[in-house]
Amino acid sequence: MSKKLPPEQIIIRPPVEAYSVLIAVTGGCSWNQCRFCGTYKGIYGGGQDYTIRPLEDVLRDIDQKVEMNYHGFPVFLAGGNPTSAPTDYLVEIIKYVRLRLKNVPRVSSYAKALDILRKSNEDLKRLAAAGLDIVYMGLESGSSEILRIMKKGTNAKSMIKAGKKVLNAGIKLSLYIILGLGSYKYSEEHVKETARVLTAINPTIFRFRTLNIMPNTPLWKEWKSGEFKLLKPIECLKEERDIIANLGENVTSQVFNDHVSNYCAIESSNIKEDREKFIETLDAFINDPRIQNMQRKNLTRM
Ligand code: SF4
Repeated sequence: MSKKLPPEQIIIRPPVEAYSVLIAVTGGCSWNQCRFCGTYKGIYGGGQDYTIRPLEDVLRDIDQKVEMNYHGFPVFLAGGNPTSAPTDYLVEIIKYVRLRLKNVPRVSSYAKALDILRKSNEDLKRLAAAGLDIVYMGLESGSSEILRIMKKGTNAKSMIKAGKKVLNAGIKLSLYIILGLGSYKYSEEHVKETARVLTAINPTIFRFRTLNIMPNTPLWKEWKSGEFKLLKPIECLKEERDIIANLGENVTSQVFNDHVSNYCAIESSNIKEDREKFIETLDAFINDPRIQNMQRKNLTRM
């Protein structure tokens, strides 16, 4: 059995942070129960326990980046959910990043809705004032039933509350949605409720990912036994189209399909303006016989 990875080892970051300076703040995930997620459960090596790294270690890593002359890049505070750490600790790290590294265009981190709900509005405003620009949060689905089945630890109501809290504090919010997370049984509900929650939050950005089932996740066994089914590529694209079609008129978010798991790469800088074109493009994919005949593959390396 492989050894657990130390907290300073960064396992994952958003694709958009590929050219950013990565600073490990927490290791693992404080929740680590989502049934579809294997990130910290051992798909990469032996897994990683939840840890808040000592402040002096994080500040030393920032000093090292300064020595390496990494000025002018975005900074990603890494770990499953650094926002689970105390606000004073995070403020000190963000301020130190802003002090030591010059011309940093963006400071970001992953966040879990529960972390956001545990923080006060004042805490979040302090993080924004220190220089935290954006958090990436897994909505996954707007359906409370799917979130319950997948053990996300949050429901639609608390997702809406957390999302609004982030935005009201002056921090940008990027949400992830997983196409196919409700399989066939809950596909319609996944579409309807995800569109409803996105409409209620109107996040700065939302991003689509397609469900792929990793070994070491609780969902793996269910998929292998045939109990849980993966949607076909065309059905994932239809879910995406229908989510976009069901959004309220108020939604002005940027939308991205910026992941290797996606079956299309289309994007919008304002879905209110681009909605018709976006749907037309998705329909062109959906009506393409090559997509219609495409078999579903489960990616286990991404
Ligand atoms: S999806 Fe996010 S919150 Fe859920 S276990 Fe994975 S890292 Fe943790």
